[in-house]
Amino acid sequence: MILNIAMDGPVGAGKSSIASAVAKALGILHLDTGAMYRALGLTAIRRGVDLADEQAVTALCHTLHIAVAHGEMGQRTIVDGDDVTDYIRTPEVSMAASTVARYAGVRQEMVAVQRRLAQETPMLLDGRDICAYVLPDAPVKIYLTASAEERARRRWLELQQKGDASTYEEVLADLKARDEQDMNRAVTPLRPAEDAVIVDSTALDFDQVVQAILNIVKEKHHE
Ligand code: C5P
Repeated sequence: MILNIAMDGPVGAGKSSIASAVAKALGILHLDTGAMYRALGLTAIRRGVDLADEQAVTALCHTLHIAVAHGEMGQRTIVDGDDVTDYIRTPEVSMAASTVARYAGVRQEMVAVQRRLAQETPMLLDGRDICAYVLPDAPVKIYLTASAEERARRRWLELQQKGDASTYEEVLADLKARDEQDMNRAVTPLRPAEDAVIVDSTALDFDQVVQAILNIVKEKHHE
């Protein structure tokens, strides 16, 4: 059976970087599914589509070809042949991604692509609905979380390094708003799947989290 690892968690839990390191250690690919919602959010902003207009956003999603490629520089996210990877990490696009991700028609399309990719290749997928919805049969399921304050602190440091002038308070407020939207939406809201192992990284450093997850994979994959 193809090794699929499903990982969910709220914003800023370190999912992307942890998932990359775990996938690398296991010699499998990492699919950052959030990048796909970000690519749609970015394109909607660029084309002046009202993010609150479900029909317009869903129609836009149907016309786009959102693809991911894995190369030396990690995952690249491509919209209609245009590499948008370097433009999808701004606070504005983060919130736009969370808004377009509320729409059922959008989710249907994204999930179909994610399932197809996961069937083809051993892969770790990270997102919000992977354990309960995208890959309910995955042999390993992880819910990676940390306190809101710690997640905001990490995200703020990351943004600072990129030259972003947001204050810690602004980052914390954004993060809580996105948590609220992701956890309370009608379609597949973010919450730990019943059979996911919860990893709380608040008091752990990067290597400790990676090791904890590798231990879970070892245990679950041989059950
Ligand atoms: O993980 P990341 O922060 O890049 O995701 C951006 C947004 O995309 C999330 O806030 C969430 O609303 C949405 N998302 C989702 N389902 C996924 C991955 C991301 O709804 N599987």
